[in-house]
Amino acid sequence: MSIRGDVLNLFADLQRDLGLTYVFITHDLAVVSHISERVAVMYLGQFVELGPTEEVAERPLHPYTIALLSAEPRPLPSSMRQESRIVLQGEVPSPIDPPTGCRFRTRCPHAQPLCTERVPEWRELKPDHWVACHFADRPNFSPN
Ligand code: SF4
Repeated sequence: MSIRGDVLNLFADLQRDLGLTYVFITHDLAVVSHISERVAVMYLGQFVELGPTEEVAERPLHPYTIALLSAEPRPLPSSMRQESRIVLQGEVPSPIDPPTGCRFRTRCPHAQPLCTERVPEWRELKPDHWVACHFADRPNFSPN
């Protein structure tokens, strides 16, 4: 853990000193909050949500992002904590033969018939906060 912290701090120093931009791929949400200004969430090889890290962490729009944040076991900044854990049902489908329509529909607690029929469009629901979900703009869809 201390080596990981040293490496992350080295990344930050190099970024500041050399003006670098990183594309950092991780499953570790605590690292995301530490190192990233913008975050893109992927499911089965496709982006499902994109936006400023703090905005996505505090007001996630996609059900997969909401479930990911709720399942993070390690201490997170208060802005990234969810009150109750969401346990997704089912297995991750094969990326070789993904589901029709929304790729997340076989595990999504909000799936509707439209999700089977049509791929959700990439929509900017808030400034610079993008999501691929037919229903993410419905009231009470997100926990925040
Ligand atoms: S489009 Fe449908 S299945 Fe996909 S994330 Fe939204 S509600 Fe769930």
